[in-house]
Amino acid sequence: MSNVPVAVVTGSNKGIGLAIVRALCKQFPGDVYLTSRDSDRGQAAVAQLQQEGLRPLFHQLDIDDLQSIRALRDFLKEKYGGLNVLVNNAGIAFKVHDTTPFAVQAEVTLKTNFFGTRNVCTELLPLVKPYGRVVNVSSMVSSSALGGCSQELQQKFRSDAITEEELVQLMTKFVEDTKKSVHEKEGWPNTAYGVSKIGVTVLSRIQARLLNEQRKGDHILLNACCPGWVRTDMAGPKATKSPDEGAETPVYLALLPATADAPHGQFVSNKTVRAW
Ligand code: NAP
Repeated sequence: MSNVPVAVVTGSNKGIGLAIVRALCKQFPGDVYLTSRDSDRGQAAVAQLQQEGLRPLFHQLDIDDLQSIRALRDFLKEKYGGLNVLVNNAGIAFKVHDTTPFAVQAEVTLKTNFFGTRNVCTELLPLVKPYGRVVNVSSMVSSSALGGCSQELQQKFRSDAITEEELVQLMTKFVEDTKKSVHEKEGWPNTAYGVSKIGVTVLSRIQARLLNEQRKGDHILLNACCPGWVRTDMAGPKATKSPDEGAETPVYLALLPATADAPHGQFVSNKTVRAW
């Protein structure tokens, strides 16, 4: 088994994820795994970084596929006995003018952004070693969508006592409410992406709390963040940040020094803790 520190970035064949891998290859003292649901796209991205003189490693990972997640988990367990840095970056967004029915957009978006990210956490968080760092890439849209929720929902999502099961029930209810076209009446905002990212931010707050309760002495720091508005296939060419600039906050959180005890359980943008 290797004692080399290991970092994993989900959805890193392009966009912000690829830029996070690039930065980690330069700054993280260990093995860095570029992962992709499609092995060809992943290998092409590895080749691109190799051309820049970097040495990322590759592992397949589709966060929608539990078998794929578990294969990565078993690989990490066997080769490294765990992992040191996990960046949950993979995500999807329908384009604003996409005509896919809203209920379908809700189901598909929540499936990857919330349920897929949660499944990765369920399988990989137990493997995170002491002084590990976990970064869940959310969005400022999670904050604006929170503001668009009913008072009752806002209270639940801001609660310091909400459980993971309650959060899963709420995310499931959103999808069901969109199918019955009652989501606005039920207090939800009209954004599937926004609700999925509320899920990511709240999940991060819950996970950080559980780490405090169950692994206090392990000094693991886990946060959600927004990369900013970044020129990628998702956000388009008019966005203000380059992918490398978008990677800065996630990489800052992934590389918080061993002496740091904060931020933890926070929502961070531009390397600054934001109110939730
Ligand atoms: P992007 O260019 O569309 O890249 C998304 C990445 O996620 C791709 O590598 C994609 O793989 C991967 N992915 C999607 N579904 C996956 C799955 N089921 N399993 C594994 N990988 C999957 O988007 P981006 O702008 O870099 O976004 C990265 C993260 O930042 C997302 O979580 C996004 O919500 C968040 N974010 C972006 C912005 C922005 O302005 N760009 C702002 C706030 C937050 P494929 O190539 O196979 O599709």
